[in-house]
Amino acid sequence: MAQYPDLQLYIGGSWRRTTSGLPVLNPADESEIGMVPVAARSDLDDALAAAAAGFKVWSRTSPAKRGDIMRKAAALMRERVEEIAFAITLEHGKPIEQARLEVVRGCEFLEWDAGEGQRTYGRVIPSEPGIKYIVLHRPIGVVAAFSPWNFPMSQPARKIGGALAAGCSIIIKAAEETPAGALHIARAFHDAGLPPGVLNLVFGVPAEISEYLIPQTPIRLVAFTGSTAVGKRLTEMAGRHAKPVLMELGGHAPVIVCDDVDPVTTAIMSAVRKARNAGQVCTSPTRFFVQEPLYEAFTKAFAEKARTVTVGNGLDPATQMGPLANRRRVEAMETLVADARAKGARVLAGGERLGNRGYFFPLTVLSDVPDDARAMSEEPFGPLALINPVSSLDEAIEKANSLPFGLAAYGFTHSARNADRLAEGVEAGNFSINTLEASVAETPFGGVKESGFGREGGAEGLSHYTIVKNISHRLM
Ligand code: NAD
Repeated sequence: MAQYPDLQLYIGGSWRRTTSGLPVLNPADESEIGMVPVAARSDLDDALAAAAAGFKVWSRTSPAKRGDIMRKAAALMRERVEEIAFAITLEHGKPIEQARLEVVRGCEFLEWDAGEGQRTYGRVIPSEPGIKYIVLHRPIGVVAAFSPWNFPMSQPARKIGGALAAGCSIIIKAAEETPAGALHIARAFHDAGLPPGVLNLVFGVPAEISEYLIPQTPIRLVAFTGSTAVGKRLTEMAGRHAKPVLMELGGHAPVIVCDDVDPVTTAIMSAVRKARNAGQVCTSPTRFFVQEPLYEAFTKAFAEKARTVTVGNGLDPATQMGPLANRRRVEAMETLVADARAKGARVLAGGERLGNRGYFFPLTVLSDVPDDARAMSEEPFGPLALINPVSSLDEAIEKANSLPFGLAAYGFTHSARNADRLAEGVEAGNFSINTLEASVAETPFGGVKESGFGREGGAEGLSHYTIVKNISHRLM
């Protein structure tokens, strides 16, 4: 029988307890399932020293050897998938099948990056005789990383994969509300033989940790996934110390449904996707702009499907959507729905919290949502779909681009001409046509505008973890 893990910090290759901790709650029943350790300054100082020492070893380890250790850690996590998925569902709430898929996805990130680490090619620049110009990509140094609670394992895996494959060491502060995913990654790397200090895992008070770590001399890159507001704060802080950042921030994904597709199958597919992770995904499809001839059929089918989504404890195999991860998300849903309703939106499904124990909120569908409703511009980060009609593709593209976000966007059409116009016209780091999958390990993922900058995954994924070094070599 799987158990929730004993939560500890991982510093310099050793596990450590702390004197203070924060409770971890099961969002399905609000019971306490563990205590996450809170790092003291001395723990952070130890992590900095360990990461600096780890960098010396790891940056001089061959990419092939680094890749072997990363693949071994991923293999261990694939073996431990049931145990890890159980812990994720307990702390986050998502259905156990989605937790299993998250673990597999996290392993895919590590495996992909392990391979890319062996392909960080430099180049030789043609030159006059007697001198050679050689360009190398070298690991940037110690990374300070901050991962969020929505994907407890795959989010930290993204950052750890990029850093380790490039030859960097990392101090990662994973989410205090969902610490078990990152803890299992550290366990797997420990068991796979990662040298001490290469990966260091801490928890604590987020602002205190970021404010302390970012200015420290060994830290050479700040990598963050989370809200735009926090991302801007960390970017400012890094800027004061002339340190680069990799920022994966908020989104408010538009979905443009053209009048040449089947409205019912598109709506059903959209509702199923919206329910994934209870909508707590930065790429979650949220603003649906449907061409007028399909509007009624699409909205009706979406709402009907939404009403059938089974909401419950993620450990129950019948559950299709778990609780929200924390109380803040329930309050956000209630506020956004009340505001939209007051401004004239129609509530076609859901709209109210379910029960009063556990953070359950149903898949909620609003139509005819006025532009000034807060939900149209604030990222709901929950199970909220907003459906509005549009009279033309130009109008749809204008509305899609009207927000400061630009992470994921989607279009449904059979017309190559429409697809091309959408792909060219919509401002987003990731545009998907006839699919609601925004990224896989082998494609670069990231945002434009206030959704952040930098890319994770794909052939681009390691570039932020490396520096470009030019060697000019006169042959004597
Ligand atoms: P939040 O902005 O308080 O926190 C977001 C994440 O950043 C959390 O993991 C938190 O621990 C961390 N964080 C907060 N302040 C920090 C600081 N000063 N230094 C370092 N880390 C810090 O919001 P929240 O209520 O936890 O989450 C809600 C919002 O966060 C959502 O509206 C969504 O926009 C965003 N979010 C985005 C993603 C994503 O994948 N891009 C993931 C989770 C949350």
